[in-house]
Amino acid sequence: MVGTVPGATPIGTRAPVVDHGPRTGAKVALTFDADMTDGMLASLRAGRVKSYANLRILDLLEREQVPATFFLTGKWVQRYPDVTRRIAGNPRFELANHTYGHAAFTGDCYDLPRLPVDELVGDVARTFEVIAPYGGRQTRYFRFPGLCHDAAALDALAPLGVTVVDGDVVSGDPFATAWKPLVRAVLDHVRPGSVVIMHVTEANAAMTDEALPHILAGLRERGLVPAPLSEVLTGG
Ligand SMILES: [Zn+2]
Repeated sequence: MVGTVPGATPIGTRAPVVDHGPRTGAKVALTFDADMTDGMLASLRAGRVKSYANLRILDLLEREQVPATFFLTGKWVQRYPDVTRRIAGNPRFELANHTYGHAAFTGDCYDLPRLPVDELVGDVARTFEVIAPYGGRQTRYFRFPGLCHDAAALDALAPLGVTVVDGDVVSGDPFATAWKPLVRAVLDHVRPGSVVIMHVTEANAAMTDEALPHILAGLRERGLVPAPLSEVLTGG
């Protein structure tokens, strides 16, 4: 809709959760999470890790003029302001929110550090404040780290007017050691309206840039067309 921010929902109501858009048409959303924890920052500082920003993914998406949506943590944006500017400057890219420091707000969410749910709204609001100055295609889409959420977490988001986006196609790219399984995981499950979850975190998702050209080729073969998340979810 013209004049509204994509993903914006009525303030004060439980945040809706969406996995995918309408199963009609040909559009699919490629989404890339930009995780950053204090542990990851420590690894960068210590020189154990070179980069958590996979520029080869951006190079490819830009060269092929492929739309994509980036779920950014506040700490990733603060560590990579130039890359964030590059994302925000691309009219085909949307910016979304993935918490400030990639903590979990429920129990038993992989090995993620946990924050109490009463800190969720402040954490997510702070992340919007970090992302907003970059402009570009801002949204009110939010993704929980590890996709971990429960009723209490969704209720806690009510003051922010966001849409929670999980996704229906998990590439499995974190800590992958080969690219072919990622291609298969995506192409075996992708359908019209799908939301594909990948990561732009390089050292923690080292095969994604190698898989991506094959994924794009496979989408073309299936007649599927990458589009911004807002278009996929609204069927627009
Ligand atoms: Zn994440």
